[in-house]
Amino acid sequence: MDFHFTPEQEQLRQEIRQFLKENLPPDFRPVRPTDQDNWEFQLQFNKKLAARKWIAPAWPPEYGGLGWSHIQQMIFAEELAYAGAPDGGRVFNVGMIGPTLIVHGTEEQKREHLPRITNAEVVWCQGYSEPGAGSDLASLQTRAVRDGDDYIVNGQKIWTTGAHHADWMFMLVRTDPDAPKHRGITFLLVDMKTPGITVRPIVNMAGYHEFNEVFFEDVRVPVKNRVGEENRGWYVAMTLLDFERSNVASIAGNQRTLETLAQHLRERKPGGPYRDVLRHKLADLWIANETGRMLSYRIAWMQDHGQVPNYEASVIKVFATELGQKIMNFGVNLLGLYGQLEPDSKYALYGGAIEKGHLVAVAPTIYSGTSEIQRNIIAQRGLGLPRD
Ligand SMILES: Cc1cc2nc3c(=O)[nH]c(=O)nc-3n(C[C@H](O)[C@H](O)[C@H](O)COP(=O)(O)OP(=O)(O)OC[C@H]3O[C@@H](n4cnc5c(N)ncnc54)[C@H](O)[C@@H]3O)c2cc1C
Repeated sequence: MDFHFTPEQEQLRQEIRQFLKENLPPDFRPVRPTDQDNWEFQLQFNKKLAARKWIAPAWPPEYGGLGWSHIQQMIFAEELAYAGAPDGGRVFNVGMIGPTLIVHGTEEQKREHLPRITNAEVVWCQGYSEPGAGSDLASLQTRAVRDGDDYIVNGQKIWTTGAHHADWMFMLVRTDPDAPKHRGITFLLVDMKTPGITVRPIVNMAGYHEFNEVFFEDVRVPVKNRVGEENRGWYVAMTLLDFERSNVASIAGNQRTLETLAQHLRERKPGGPYRDVLRHKLADLWIANETGRMLSYRIAWMQDHGQVPNYEASVIKVFATELGQKIMNFGVNLLGLYGQLEPDSKYALYGGAIEKGHLVAVAPTIYSGTSEIQRNIIAQRGLGLPRD
């Protein structure tokens, strides 16, 4: 493994930094990865990325990308995450459905959907989880019944991030209730404007409206919107999850928070018996984050060498997201009573970002597969332990 970036890669990093400097307002505060506020600003930012073909730069040119390597893509993701740049749905568009359509979609589906993604004209959401199907996703019950050239969909999804902004949803439905549970599932693309779809907000514990419940009542979905074969949607769904878990951005976000906390310690110079405890704790978290950086670089390096990260993606996911919680926990303690103030308090430090960060740091250890599920994957596929 080569730990150095090439001069061209370093130059690309500078170019991305310059772009971010020019296109994010000077008083810009980093946004959360799943932020749904200031939506118009988020969409406009994506339009600016699209103008440079930077929505999905790692996609092949025929699909609107620049054919970047995984290392280039990782540098890009790292810089955007460090800046806290808005996502505006890219996580679903580019991180999930786009690459899945490239692998499993028909030519017609690729022609219809990929250019709209790379031109930042569309936003997707993910309809996987249901009230009775999260970690055990294959238990999902939303039903689709064939009726001529359509499927008729009835059921409910939950925790659907951004459904209230989305134009389209990729979703899993049960098409054969009698088959073994992994075999009776189909993957559909659904226009969110179709009659019979109701989106209801769920407000999270940090007070943000990011995810939703989505109800389907006799929703007609054309058969041509099916990806892959009927009842074989599980394989399409798993391809998508592999793309979803290779996300390496959280280390850069952690670094930004650690820099804020280091600055705080430098300026306040706390004395007394806690001085060394605080310094040492910060140093430990910094070391851990640098370790995480190496783990995430390894994923990109493997991908550039034609290897498919599997349990390695679970290692970085569980490591980086749990570390994110520890960093925020240290942060609220370091700031003392100020660390509990909401962003709208005039006494809040760093715009209340540490307090909010502490609350929202729980979510990444749950979505894209909980920490327990990641550990199961590491135990089985990484360490060869038996399933039961
Ligand atoms: C912020 C956020 C955004 C989300 N966005 C979306 C979205 O856009 N679309 C979507 O479809 N879903 C989304 N989800 C849902 C997410 O995928 C599920 O919450 C997740 O898969 C866990 O499922 P669950 O909530 O039903 O918990 P459960 O699966 O019921 O798990 C409950 C607890 O049991 C543990 N557990 C379960 N099974 C095992 C096992 N085999 N071994 C050990 N422990 C186990 C879990 O780790 C967890 O601690 C989102 C979730 C969050 C928090």
